[in-house]
Amino acid sequence: MKLDIDLNELWACVDRMGAQRQKLDLDEIWDSSTFAIDTELESGIEIKLEDLETDQGLLGIHGRQVVLFIPDHAFRVETAIQSPGQGNKFHVADCKTLDDMKNRNRFERYHVTNSITGEFPVFGYSQITKRQVEGSANLSVCKNCLNFLNYKGADTGSAQNRQKLVDEFSIEEFFSTYSSVFKQKPKSWIDKKTKGYTADWETISGRVRAAAGYSCKHCFVDLSSHKHLLHVHHMNGVKSDNSESNLISLCADCHRKEPYHEHMMVPRKDTLTINELRKAQLGNEFATWNTTRKSADPALAGFLNYIERKNYVTPVLGYSVTSNTNKEIFLDAAWPDQKLGLFLDGRINIDGWTIFSLGEALEWAKGLPTANGNTAT
Ligand SMILES: [Zn+2]
Ligand SMILES: [Zn+2]
Ligand SMILES: [Zn+2]
Repeated sequence: MKLDIDLNELWACVDRMGAQRQKLDLDEIWDSSTFAIDTELESGIEIKLEDLETDQGLLGIHGRQVVLFIPDHAFRVETAIQSPGQGNKFHVADCKTLDDMKNRNRFERYHVTNSITGEFPVFGYSQITKRQVEGSANLSVCKNCLNFLNYKGADTGSAQNRQKLVDEFSIEEFFSTYSSVFKQKPKSWIDKKTKGYTADWETISGRVRAAAGYSCKHCFVDLSSHKHLLHVHHMNGVKSDNSESNLISLCADCHRKEPYHEHMMVPRKDTLTINELRKAQLGNEFATWNTTRKSADPALAGFLNYIERKNYVTPVLGYSVTSNTNKEIFLDAAWPDQKLGLFLDGRINIDGWTIFSLGEALEWAKGLPTANGNTAT
């Protein structure tokens, strides 16, 4: 496909913002393009289970994160519409229920979507009216999926906490947590991102960032060399309220971790760059569990929760290695002494190293002995 994009306007905008021109990254442009499939995915498309991309333990198709559901509720359709908690669960990870479904090879019609509304189309046959019924239901997320990912400590916490996570589950927040793993963002996110700012926002934001010396007010990382990674956050959540006391400079990573910022998706390489700078600027202080937990890519949280509880050593976040194809690769987390690493961006081989995907790392962490010597269940 031929790529024909006029970049002059983009660079003019970059210059106005006082940002530095970056090396052009075509991935970035593709990131915010939408294709026919993105529109189809909003309402859901039928797929075969073997077509799912499950490399990292999450569910994807064509580089897009999705959730999987079964619209057909047969004679349970009225129950599902009235009490969605009793309908079919939707899946967000490569959990053991999904494994079972693959093995049973049953004839079911599986659909995937990346709609963030939480409402799913359902249908079935009413035994009361003897008619086909169609409707929609706020189905519940599968607990096995949340356990598999240790999402928000689902696996290490209480059953009560797990139920709370199911009740309060937000697909938008979930997608945002794992945004580093997928190249293409949901259409709804792209539509929403640019809304609500005033016309003079670029000027105001530029002024606030300069006044802060291009440093983040939360983690103190100095972003003078990467000004585009410093954001200005509206503390009361109102994007049109640009009063001085409402604005604070935050790095992209601290910003995405603010409450109600589930829509913010930070590219994996930006998180790596910020951690690279934090490491260089903060030195040893960076290697504590407290800082590691706060600085890590949110996709790693469930994994880190396991290994911290098991008293494992803190990993290096963003570790540079050379792959077998002679490319510089940044491991999202690494233990260089043990030649062990976690890589969120596909499959790589490095001689002498063990490189886990997220799904593999989670299983490995689950099997580690606990601090008192027993293997956790
Ligand atoms: Zn599941
Ligand atoms: Zn920060
Ligand atoms: Zn904000």
